[in-house]
Amino acid sequence: MSNTRIGIVGYGNLGKGVEAGLKQSSDLELAGIFSRRQPEQLETTSPAYHMDDLLGFKDSIDVLILCGGSQKDIPVQGPELAKTFNTVDTYDNHNEIPVHFAKLDQVARENDTVAVISTGWDPGLFSLNRLIAESILPKGETYTFWGPGLSQGHSDAVRRVAGVKNAVQYTVPKEELVDAVKDKQSIEYNKLDAHKRMVYLVLEEDADESKVRETIKTMPDYFEGYETEIHVIDQETFDKEHAGMPHGGTVMRQGKTTDDHTAIYQFGLDLDSNPEFTAAVAIAYARAAGKLAREKQYGAKTVFDIAPGYLSPKSGAQLRKELL
Ligand code: NAP
Repeated sequence: MSNTRIGIVGYGNLGKGVEAGLKQSSDLELAGIFSRRQPEQLETTSPAYHMDDLLGFKDSIDVLILCGGSQKDIPVQGPELAKTFNTVDTYDNHNEIPVHFAKLDQVARENDTVAVISTGWDPGLFSLNRLIAESILPKGETYTFWGPGLSQGHSDAVRRVAGVKNAVQYTVPKEELVDAVKDKQSIEYNKLDAHKRMVYLVLEEDADESKVRETIKTMPDYFEGYETEIHVIDQETFDKEHAGMPHGGTVMRQGKTTDDHTAIYQFGLDLDSNPEFTAAVAIAYARAAGKLAREKQYGAKTVFDIAPGYLSPKSGAQLRKELL
């Protein structure tokens, strides 16, 4: 069978992750990178084109991986591109996922395309594991702990504080709570108390440090109510120790198989690079999207709808022999 041809839409962290990740799958090939910027502005040796030229690739791309931002890009690009192409996105605006699904499902059904939405790790693999854990252990509680990991949104928010030159924010789960769940104890869980926020920042020369600290700690929606640690460091340390984009976390279900026996279901990720791993998941779902389209299983799909075998380049027979 010929290779599945992939187009990348948007060349930020995630787009770069997809470009790199595709090199690891011999059944997939990169057809081109499409950006709203001029192609010569992108630092890549892969074939790159302007978004305006994308429709001309209608017959030479099997699946587009949409790598734009969830807030502004995907809600616009998703429904538009699904009119012509099979698509995969990593849309992570959790509250809006039902609306996003409904829009794409309508467009994809009307145009005989497949639109796989909200892949990645959360939403994505974490969601899938919540579903499996809850289905197997209907009596119990599911807990999600995020991090340790870098939060883009919170880092951006700190960088906007007057007097801050550079900053990163890591979300760190409270180990004692994670251990208590593993230890089969029942815990009081809410997102706010289960995580702390660690900020590493470089100050502008004339900055008022105590004012910066106060502004961060009391920032509504971002830091207020959280246990927040702020570390002021120099630019050299910042460059050396805070250049990566690590993330990860754990989904855990504490369930009762009978009144006397508890079972712990645990799924964890420890990622040196959040965008590269998110891209890796999107790539596997792009393979699945290609297969679904060939089978004419049109419409929007989530990780809940796609059988795991579709993610693999291996045949069903091979999977049964090697992995079952
Ligand atoms: P990003 O780097 O900010 O890129 C977003 C878009 O901005 C790019 O597609 C690109 O579009 C444009 N862009 C990037 N660099 C630019 C630059 N230097 N100048 C001008 N425009 C630039 O965002 P990202 O880190 O790739 O993340 C994309 C999305 O992935 C996030 O919004 C998040 O929702 C999602 N995500 C999901 C998961 C999950 O588990 N589901 C995990 C992580 C991230 P053009 O090339 O068209 O200009």
